Amino acid sequence: MARYTEARCRLCRREGMKLFLKGDRCYTEKCAFERSNYAPGQHGIARTKISDYALRLREKQKVRRIYGILEAQFRKYFALADRQKGMTGVNLLQLLERRLDNVIYRLGFADSRSQARQFVRHGHFKVNEKRVDIPSYSVRQSDVVELIQTEPVNEIIKQAVEGVQRRGVPDWLEMDPQTYKGKIKSMPERHHVTTPIQEQFIVEFYSK
Ligand code: SF4
Repeated sequence: MARYTEARCRLCRREGMKLFLKGDRCYTEKCAFERSNYAPGQHGIARTKISDYALRLREKQKVRRIYGILEAQFRKYFALADRQKGMTGVNLLQLLERRLDNVIYRLGFADSRSQARQFVRHGHFKVNEKRVDIPSYSVRQSDVVELIQTEPVNEIIKQAVEGVQRRGVPDWLEMDPQTYKGKIKSMPERHHVTTPIQEQFIVEFYSK
């Protein structure tokens, strides 16, 4: 499957905010955005004006990059969100939050969504007692996500679980660090997405 392989810190600088794509590093002074919080490239600092179109494009790109999704799949999510009842923008964010790789990240099994995706692809997790290796798998209420434990437990996952306090686990999820089990208590709501996102701009971008 195609995926983004260039420097991820450039994406934060491009979007003008920290997207937390690199786990621990994002919380340290090594964060590239902390050191150069302007767009990358020769004219990065000079860029000031932004058109209405660019504003909407940037919002769409920002969300796509936060969740690490390529354009074609993102469009599919948008089309699905548009077919659902309710507000399309909110539906879109809910669909993205329900992805298994995002849930693994939110539960604290991984330091970043890209790391979570790799763990899922490598078959480290079960959902409702069945191994699932599809990062886009959409969880449902009452699902139980569980680490397939090895002896000793994968050290990277162990450290991530121990360090999850820094981010906290959102209240639509429940995590038991002793058993490495997480539960989907309820479906994610709009207020659970705390990153500043103007989803209406994404709707307008695709509706033009
Ligand atoms: Fe973004 Fe993290 Fe890189 Fe900072 S360290 S620029 S938050 S990916």
